[in-house]
Amino acid sequence: MNAFPLAGGCVCGRVRFVVTEPPTSASYCHCRRCQRRTGTAVSAQARIVPGSLRITAGEEHLGSYDPPDGFSKLFCSACGSALFSRHPDDPGIMSVRLGAFDDDPGIRPSYRQFVAYAAPWEPLPDDGLPHYPEGRPPDA
Ligand SMILES: [Zn+2]
Ligand SMILES: [Zn+2]
Repeated sequence: MNAFPLAGGCVCGRVRFVVTEPPTSASYCHCRRCQRRTGTAVSAQARIVPGSLRITAGEEHLGSYDPPDGFSKLFCSACGSALFSRHPDDPGIMSVRLGAFDDDPGIRPSYRQFVAYAAPWEPLPDDGLPHYPEGRPPDA
């Protein structure tokens, strides 16, 4: 595991960031929204400690898609890289897409959610993690 702060960025390099504390959890999301926004079968992300994300370059390139019913999706508007999600009412609650980190963030996804919508062309792995058909129940 690499030392914090841990850096990351988008594929074109305009947006750069650091996360100053280890993330608190991580997960895979198989929902259709994540499939469309990433162009892949699943999105992997880590929930971070509120206030632990700093944009170090290219903040002016950060675009945001704000659906009426969920977290805002932040991306690099120059290259399209998916970077973060942010709670619409509490901007301290954010996740970082695991693929955006430069190095191993240490944490590993501990569950899969929205597997009822999993892509038919990508079999769900038998990885021993909890698989939730919808979002992870609050008591899980
Ligand atoms: Zn970019
Ligand atoms: Zn999703």
